[in-house]
Amino acid sequence: VIEIGTPEHSVVTTCAYCGVGCAFKAEMRGAELVRMVPYKDGKANHGHSCVKGRFSYGYAAHKDRILNPMVRENVEDPWREVSWDEALSFAANRLQGLQKTYGKESIGVITSSRCTNEETYLVQKLARAVFHNNNTDTCARVCHSPTGYGLRETLGTSAGTQDFDSIEHADVVLVIGANPTDAHPVFASFLKRRMREGAKMIVVDPRRIDLVKSPYVEATHHLALRPGTNVAVVTAMAHVIVSEGLFDETYIRERCDWDEFQDYVEFVSDPKQSPEAVEALTGVLAEQLRSAARLYACGGNAAIYYGLGVTEHSQGSTAVIGLANLAMLTGNIGKQGVGVNPLRGQNNVQGACDMGSFPHQLPGYRHVKFAEVREPYEKLWGVAISDEPGLRIPNMLDAAVEGSFKGIYIQGEDILQSDPDTKHVAAGLAGMECVIVHDLFLNETANYAHVFLPGSTFLEKDGTFTNAERRISPVRKVMMPRSGYADWEVTQLLANVMGADWNYTHPSQIMAEIAATTPSFANVTYELIDKLGSVQWPCTDAAPEGTPVLHVDGIVRGKGRFIRTDYVATDEKSGPRFPLLLTTGRILTQYNVGAQTRRTDNVAWHEEDVLEIHPHDAELRGIKDGDWVKLASRSGETSLRADVTDRVSTGVVYTTFHHPDTHTNVVTTEYSDWATNCPEYKVTAVQVSLSNGP
Ligand code: SF4
Repeated sequence: VIEIGTPEHSVVTTCAYCGVGCAFKAEMRGAELVRMVPYKDGKANHGHSCVKGRFSYGYAAHKDRILNPMVRENVEDPWREVSWDEALSFAANRLQGLQKTYGKESIGVITSSRCTNEETYLVQKLARAVFHNNNTDTCARVCHSPTGYGLRETLGTSAGTQDFDSIEHADVVLVIGANPTDAHPVFASFLKRRMREGAKMIVVDPRRIDLVKSPYVEATHHLALRPGTNVAVVTAMAHVIVSEGLFDETYIRERCDWDEFQDYVEFVSDPKQSPEAVEALTGVLAEQLRSAARLYACGGNAAIYYGLGVTEHSQGSTAVIGLANLAMLTGNIGKQGVGVNPLRGQNNVQGACDMGSFPHQLPGYRHVKFAEVREPYEKLWGVAISDEPGLRIPNMLDAAVEGSFKGIYIQGEDILQSDPDTKHVAAGLAGMECVIVHDLFLNETANYAHVFLPGSTFLEKDGTFTNAERRISPVRKVMMPRSGYADWEVTQLLANVMGADWNYTHPSQIMAEIAATTPSFANVTYELIDKLGSVQWPCTDAAPEGTPVLHVDGIVRGKGRFIRTDYVATDEKSGPRFPLLLTTGRILTQYNVGAQTRRTDNVAWHEEDVLEIHPHDAELRGIKDGDWVKLASRSGETSLRADVTDRVSTGVVYTTFHHPDTHTNVVTTEYSDWATNCPEYKVTAVQVSLSNGP
């Protein structure tokens, strides 16, 4: 029970954790925020929330917040608190010096899906208009970049097709590589409600997640595939649908490229793609897979929801394409209750991608190589924009290790803890001469920083987030920035010290620039968002108040494209030295690397990272429940306690990555998605052995 007295006023804002984007009333007593209450008129959450969101305000007031800028000559030196002017001049001088010595491509930026649309827009603008390169990337690189690629190639939009409410019309739901109960709890409650109303659920996951069987709901199918075999499973489903004539020919003839469909039919009809042929590879019984495919094709409105268990693989983009193929094959696109829907991990993954944070795309997913795409920005910003794509995060780190990449501005992202292959990230950061960390806390990455710029929480600024259903929701200032500046102001200050002349006085002006230059954000204004509470892009002449469901009158790219999805095994293979496959995920009470959630009052429910291991594999190693074990891969090793459970299959182990003490990513590898470099977090060959603890 939390005694709070009577709140005096409240501000409606948006949760800054996951991609559900719940609306909250932040209730205030004077200048103090006393509680967060889920907002009943919130269009994404309808008055629901999870424990993370309710307690999210705790970290804003936490004693660990760094409120003054700091600098140091070398990373071995102690930090020195300085004024904002001195910190920004220090940063600007270093960055400009590096460009003079090593060339203009020697520095770059990383922005965060935690920040607002307006902030991420300004960070990519900093790279393009002030650094004069395209070295801009976002943490979406390491989660949903394959979504951007796969959905754009097949359907023409790098975004989920439905609004959350559409689930009310689904008869069959295919959840693959996602654990909504823990990672998207409010949407999970909508899913379960729909299951109780009779919708059938197919879960594709190496682990027996809560949706497979919980007190009130039970999936009809659980395809407990071997990690790394999504593409084989999805293609085998397509094989069944095509070979048994369960596809929607009318839809395909009307809405898709028929010639490409013919090629796809030839590919997918090959007996090598059949459930029987891939049974040994995937670990999924052929009859079970056939039954799931028939249900998906014939069970009425069928909706796909997927998460990082699809994207964070060497074939992440191929798997996304495979899911779009399934939806087009069965006509499950362009109406309520269907679609292909990425469950975005962070609050503003969709927005950060929309805002041109990628090194090859300007806002709205338009390639920098096209003069007509660059031209409006060049006119507006008064600069020439390079037509050469810049470096992705892994390429920046590789170049830093090799010695050609020397400086970085990282806003709201702890790459040392969250990116894979920690040793390599550390080597990259150590190779740089100017690392600027702009964050709330002295995170792990800050160990390698020369400049620390204090960040502002979502409660301390105005702006917008775009959730997994393309819903642009308001972020409204509840309190003044404790460090003195909102993040967008800090980026503007840095740009101006480096010679720019930006003079935004409010994020609504940044949104006006975005709307004027980005087709998918055309007509989006703060007035419209305030009037409607939130708005789903695009706002067109035909749908001035937004578009809940895409591809209704036809697929956005013109004709939907069927693309072959050849299965290619990852190079990360189990063997005698590392016989088990590790996959990773989240728990309900923690959020990503825990920088925020560990500093809130939901700490009472915090759990440590543990390693789930099947009883058979545990017994082989003499491991009992609760024992300390060493988890080792060819990249590194860590210690954690064992959770002996049959939630995982034999040969598979599972853990989370929330605690810096565990540092799970010391074991993950350098492998990544072929199209986007999204790291392969979900498959690591490991050995597990008894240990004495850390
Ligand atoms: Fe909603 Fe996600 Fe925030 Fe929970 S973490 S309150 S589900 S937005």
